[in-house]
Amino acid sequence: MLCKVCDRALNRTQWSKDETLKSCPSCSQENGAEHVFFNYPVRFGTTPFRASPNHPEGPQSHCIECRADNLVDMSQAVYCSAIEIK
Ligand SMILES: [Zn+2]
Ligand SMILES: [Zn+2]
Repeated sequence: MLCKVCDRALNRTQWSKDETLKSCPSCSQENGAEHVFFNYPVRFGTTPFRASPNHPEGPQSHCIECRADNLVDMSQAVYCSAIEIK
């Protein structure tokens, strides 16, 4: 499934230009229309196992609620149509 705003796959992580927001692949697929972003790193967390040259701190790919299988608080969600992505 592709995002109607940026035309990229909903299950691929996207970053806002300033990297303070990151999309959650499962929340975005759940939305079905556009990428759903949350504050990074607060809503994601990091792990050394996911360290990469671009993100040496190792961002978790899914938001904390999705990883815990909890209901996601969408009140803080930011949508692809509202921001500039990288
Ligand atoms: Zn998008
Ligand atoms: Zn999520």
